Amino acid sequence: MQAHAASVGDLISACDLLVVGAGFFGLTVAERAAAERGLRVLVIERRPHIGGNAWSETHRDTGIEIHRYGSHLFHCNDEPIWQYVNRFASFTDYRHHVYATAGGQVFTMPINLGTICSFFRRALTPDQARKLLAQQAGEFGSRDPANLEEKAISLIGRPLYEAFIQGYTTKQWQTDPRELPAGIITRLPVRFDFNARYFSDRFEGLPRDGYAALFGQMTANHCIEIVTGVDYASVRGLVPSKLPVVFTGPIDRYFHYCDGRLNWRSLEFEELILDCRDHQGCAVMNYSDASVPYTRVHEFRHLHPERHYGNRTVVFREYSHAAGSDDEPFYPVGTPEDRQRYHRYAARAAKEVNVFFGGRLGSYKYLDMHQAIGAALKLWQTQLAPLFAGRASVSGTEKQQLLDA
Ligand code: FAD
Ligand code: UDP
Repeated sequence: MQAHAASVGDLISACDLLVVGAGFFGLTVAERAAAERGLRVLVIERRPHIGGNAWSETHRDTGIEIHRYGSHLFHCNDEPIWQYVNRFASFTDYRHHVYATAGGQVFTMPINLGTICSFFRRALTPDQARKLLAQQAGEFGSRDPANLEEKAISLIGRPLYEAFIQGYTTKQWQTDPRELPAGIITRLPVRFDFNARYFSDRFEGLPRDGYAALFGQMTANHCIEIVTGVDYASVRGLVPSKLPVVFTGPIDRYFHYCDGRLNWRSLEFEELILDCRDHQGCAVMNYSDASVPYTRVHEFRHLHPERHYGNRTVVFREYSHAAGSDDEPFYPVGTPEDRQRYHRYAARAAKEVNVFFGGRLGSYKYLDMHQAIGAALKLWQTQLAPLFAGRASVSGTEKQQLLDA
């Protein structure tokens, strides 16, 4: 529900736990607190909807379920987390595949034996492909790669790097890949077989009735009250110091940017409604060339091939840019200065009595959905449940350990 600060004040006085932010992290904590202990939980969310970046809704003109903040594919290796989300939704057997348009041709992404054979126009066996890339990847000898470019070249060699990584990464981060941390690229596998699946995890699928239905089930407990359209900053003064608060907003904003701003990348999505059943033949097409201004195009109908959608389709072109003060923060940039700054905030957070920080904004970490859920379950089990079971307080060291994990 939408609410005014005064009525939120009444709700705050009546609750046992305040959760700021209704993304996967906040809702997991709320769900556990209500289900396990019957605590009265108030969730406040500044956007007009719950679900955070994983929110999806039915597109008004086409009836297609669109993911408002870009395609969100659920995947994980952790059985307890998979079982946990399956309590709130049944999942389809969707398997994500991505293609990349580079130099006027379409290739399989991530790079696999098919990509390598097509790119070099040769029929290679796995061993031949390995040998070829090893020859091309030897440019930096045995020294450790110092940045994203060196890391990528040491994995796949310069020709594939220049075709698939350099342009895309420059668009995505608007930073020379030689100035980016090597870690960004390690999320992208390279395969020497024809396995074209984007993820290698044991469990994968999409909520059969959509993410909105899943979030609805997660919060169906009558002990959970949610108000949308309310920023914590506007009600902060009403929060009693003894009330435990789980804060999943930006950690630097909580501390009024006293140690400076953390850098984020933001995204813009350009929506196109097209008079055809199928625009690109897959859910996500990456655009590798620097000359194409967007990084990728999402065509949401492909996320649910089991549904019967009509004759029009809706696509989102995704553009990346540095987050200004009014933009949604999406990807932590994580320069060495950012890391140092974050550690200063984490040290402050550890000392904040009765406030627990988490989620991707609260811990300044890129988290997949299953990781956000896993971290929230851990916070609940190790700190919040013991707190409500009567332990006097949680130490700063324990809080810091969880933020650093
Ligand atoms: P969020 O979802 O960001 O939720 C935090 C909420 O807090 C937000 O709704 C925000 O509005 C609210 N908030 C912040 N400040 C305040 C405040 N002061 N007062 C009130 N409310 C506040 N993960 C996957 O597993 N698979 C994918 O395919 C995938 N694709 C992604 C694609 C993109 C483009 C992006 C950016 C992320 C993707 N993710 C994916 C990651 C996924 O979005 C995150 O794992 C998830 O959003 C983390 O949940 P969270 O609760 O930590 O944060
Ligand atoms: N990347 C790339 N080309 C691609 C896909 C990914 O260069 O076609 C690089 C890019 O630097 C990106 C990183 O690999 O930031 C991680 O890719 P992923 O698809 O995991 O990014 P996300 O889906 O989180 O945007």
